[in-house]
Amino acid sequence: MFRYTVVAIFKVFHGKAREVDDSLDEFVGFPGIHYNLFISTKRTLMKTKKDFPEGMVPLGKEKFPFHCHPGVACYMTCCKNVDMFLYPYDVLCLKKSLQISSQQFMEQYARLVKGATHSYFPSVMLRLIDDETRACPFLQEDGCGVYPDRPSACRMYPLERAVDRSPEKGTASDFYFMTDHSYCLGHQEEKIFTVKKWIRDQRLDDYNLMDDLWAEVDTVFSGNPWAGEGSGGPKQQMAFTACYDIDNFRLMVVKHSLLDRFAISRDQKRRIKESDIELLKFAFEWLKYFLGAPSSLIVK
Ligand code: SF4
Ligand code: SF4
Repeated sequence: MFRYTVVAIFKVFHGKAREVDDSLDEFVGFPGIHYNLFISTKRTLMKTKKDFPEGMVPLGKEKFPFHCHPGVACYMTCCKNVDMFLYPYDVLCLKKSLQISSQQFMEQYARLVKGATHSYFPSVMLRLIDDETRACPFLQEDGCGVYPDRPSACRMYPLERAVDRSPEKGTASDFYFMTDHSYCLGHQEEKIFTVKKWIRDQRLDDYNLMDDLWAEVDTVFSGNPWAGEGSGGPKQQMAFTACYDIDNFRLMVVKHSLLDRFAISRDQKRRIKESDIELLKFAFEWLKYFLGAPSSLIVK
């Protein structure tokens, strides 16, 4: 039997860490959204969890010093010239924070890159201010303007996270790595953390959970499930809407009575109708079903 393990590296790109290859690839359209597609690398698929990229040693329970606060000389440095991926849950939280629609968020604050994990689905990156600062659009004079709803990459920094998932066993473990950017003076502060404490401090649990669900779906995408449609075909566009345009996905769910097609309890239907987070979880399961991958949804 074919056995494999997928390791997804949730990587942050801060400051001058120019690890993204921004070569222009092509231009495609999604419903109401038009962006340039770029080639980049973010997440690495590996056969075993020992195959972490060279120089990356996972943190265990050891303590590390770190403190980011307005008193550090580098304050807000990392919010400029920042190449950052946005995951579906990031988009959901940010559009809620900004009180705009998901489509408006995508049009105003996102750009697409191709090949970040594989060639079969674009990734979404934060659209930076188009001047020499390349600042995050949410950066204000005194700091982050969306702090309570900042993306997972901003919460995770200075750590990076890898998830070692075995779909066959249904198990997953995560690993954390320390970044080493010389401009970040937070490492020289006296506050002490462990990974566990950092996750709690940054309220990362919900982000990690949702990012892991997203990674499962993206793994399905990586198998080119589009039945020869090619880049930007109708199925791929529908999948993009489900992942990144939750408001239009909600309209789609209502229009096609999607919830009524599956054995979903009345309580769960209510939760999905009331909560974008529950709707996004449904979207992920529905996409797996729609694309022929194992899904928790049961057809009526
Ligand atoms: S979202 Fe906030 S913390 Fe993250 S880069 Fe932008 S301004 Fe900085
Ligand atoms: S301490 Fe590090 S994370 Fe905080 S503002 Fe400075 S560069 Fe950014």
